[in-house]
Amino acid sequence: MDLLNNLQSQLDVLEQHSLIRKRRTVDSPCGPRVQVGGRELLAFCTNDYLGLASHPALAAALAEGASLYGVGSGASHLISGHGRAHAQLEERLAQFVGAHLESPRALTFCTGYMANLAVLTGLTAGDRDAEIFSEALNHASLIDGARLSRATVKVYPHADLAALGALLAASKAATKVVVTDSVFSMDGNLAPLPAILALCEQHGAWLVIDDAHGFGTLGQNGHGALEHFNLKSPYLVYMGTLGKAAGVGGAFIAAHELVIETLIQKARPYIFTTATPQAMAHALLTSLDLLEGPEGQRRRAQLQALVAQLDDGLRLERWQRMPSATAIQPILIGDNAETMQAGAALYEQGLWVGAIRPPTVPAGTARLRVTLSAGHTDEEVARLITAINALERT
Ligand SMILES: *Cc1c(COP(=O)(O)O)cnc(C)c1O
Repeated sequence: MDLLNNLQSQLDVLEQHSLIRKRRTVDSPCGPRVQVGGRELLAFCTNDYLGLASHPALAAALAEGASLYGVGSGASHLISGHGRAHAQLEERLAQFVGAHLESPRALTFCTGYMANLAVLTGLTAGDRDAEIFSEALNHASLIDGARLSRATVKVYPHADLAALGALLAASKAATKVVVTDSVFSMDGNLAPLPAILALCEQHGAWLVIDDAHGFGTLGQNGHGALEHFNLKSPYLVYMGTLGKAAGVGGAFIAAHELVIETLIQKARPYIFTTATPQAMAHALLTSLDLLEGPEGQRRRAQLQALVAQLDDGLRLERWQRMPSATAIQPILIGDNAETMQAGAALYEQGLWVGAIRPPTVPAGTARLRVTLSAGHTDEEVARLITAINALERT
């Protein structure tokens, strides 16, 4: 069978380049300590930054939601799948980030991936000459959304404000959309959002911010990158995911009510899919209470303390700790095979750290992606530091 042989030889090429990805089956809830294959591991690889994913209050709220609303929503939002819990969640999310927007309204999505497809296709749907200005290190879902939109896409180099300014100045498009991650997923650093927003206001461009890693973790109240940088503008279109720090799943867009109405009318990843179970929306109301309340404050403080501890403790010579003040703490190794070996050696010691290779990151920049969580203890982070320092010297 030629078709099967073709697939096999393509997979063989991945194997030869140390690019084959393998899944591990976890036998316990998501948390800082997980069970895999009968072993307990310390996980430094989840996006559960505040340790909420298996919080008893969220599990109870999800169960309560299922008893109130059942499980399946049965239809898309525009047919009959839009329920009271979805409406309540939209209201709460609009309040959550609304101080930074004008006439704020929010819309929920099944996943962040779909929200990003929706926002980039939806904002540009009415203008064949629309242009999207996309940061070079943007998440795959933004790249895919830009492609799907059929707008002209201009990629600007990472954090290069001069290049972005020049592209915007040269653009004749009536619809201009600048799009960037707030916290870069594989690097952990922050985009210079205040300066990017100033360029957008100067040139009349929307600024779409993907705050997947900032929502819940950044800002005094966990309101994310907009709060962290104290941004406010009618040009802002905010995407937050609800399966990372918020500990549940799904995503939302918050923006001016006209943006949201446009997405409801035009964004196919919103229109042509079954609404998420209302029970999840119900659980997310509890998650937002936790994020804004004293428990959220305490967990954000613990996360920051662990980031500082890692910063103090790592003593690297060949490998390079990438500059990051967020929960994402990558260690740049470079070579794919060496990165995989380092990941495997840590795993042997019971430390589960993500080993990230191309195409997720540019060729030659393979890295260990350590993610910290407020659920980790100081002793656990100390164990990781000792192991990485020792490993780099072998
Ligand atoms: C995780 C992530 C997404 C996708 O969100 P999901 O809810 O997991 O689909 C989008 N953008 C960024 C930057 C992410 O890290």
